[in-house]
Amino acid sequence: MSRQFRAGDRALLIDQKKRRYLVNLRPGGQFHSHAGYVEHDQIIGVGEGATVRSTKGSPYVAVRPTLADFVLKMPRGAQVIYPKDLGPILMLADIFPGARVLESGVGSGALSMTLLRAGAEVTGYEIRDDFASRARNNVAAFLGDEALARYRVEVRDCYEGIDLRDLDRIVLDLPEPWQVVKHAELALHPGGVLLAYTPSVVQVMQLREALDASRFDLAETVEVLSRSWHVDGQAVRPDHRMVAHTGFLTHARLLGG
Ligand code: SAH
Repeated sequence: MSRQFRAGDRALLIDQKKRRYLVNLRPGGQFHSHAGYVEHDQIIGVGEGATVRSTKGSPYVAVRPTLADFVLKMPRGAQVIYPKDLGPILMLADIFPGARVLESGVGSGALSMTLLRAGAEVTGYEIRDDFASRARNNVAAFLGDEALARYRVEVRDCYEGIDLRDLDRIVLDLPEPWQVVKHAELALHPGGVLLAYTPSVVQVMQLREALDASRFDLAETVEVLSRSWHVDGQAVRPDHRMVAHTGFLTHARLLGG
């Protein structure tokens, strides 16, 4: 089936050096680069995967962005969680279609989009009004109205409590997740999962102490190392550079009736 680009679609243009550019296609629009420009009308109507040429003859491959592409290119205020951690979070927090999830804070919405795309119903608690709107805009832009209907963001401080009950999952990316543990005990149903992403190991220690003193058990902390490889003929070896650290993922389950 042909998947032609239409006006209003998003296209990812990839040049010969594998540099990526995100473009919102509109009639009459132009994408400018050092190699001249590409008319959006050259892309509108062609099939996904086609190659278009700039005015100076440089080729660009046009595909629709994946969620990972979009997360790395979308408007960001707060630091986002990277795709290498977003995937494992879905598994470690056991996100499923229809899961009732509290997420806090929502930042730019990278994690929100990942949870929503896995089918969850997400309530976000975010203290900053501007981030709350940016997250909503990013969700609407990439996932559309169907996902927006499963996404509610409230501007509030998660450390002060969680009003929801019988939640399936709580996913945290904020500075002091241990402050949320006592609220999570009330808000999750027994068997529910809490997961927190924290950049520093000092945060892990404080969170694990709070979990130890709570009804949570089965706690585990992991880090995800993703090392890409250079594959070119006989030269096959790990890339010289890697993102060696982003954050730790700590997850635990609420026990007791
Ligand atoms: N996971 C997000 C990034 C979150 S950044 C993403 O992938 O895009 C951390 C966010 O937590 C920031 O937006 C910050 O404003 C928010 N935050 C910090 N403390 C908070 C609190 N006590 N309650 C709610 N949100 C909080």
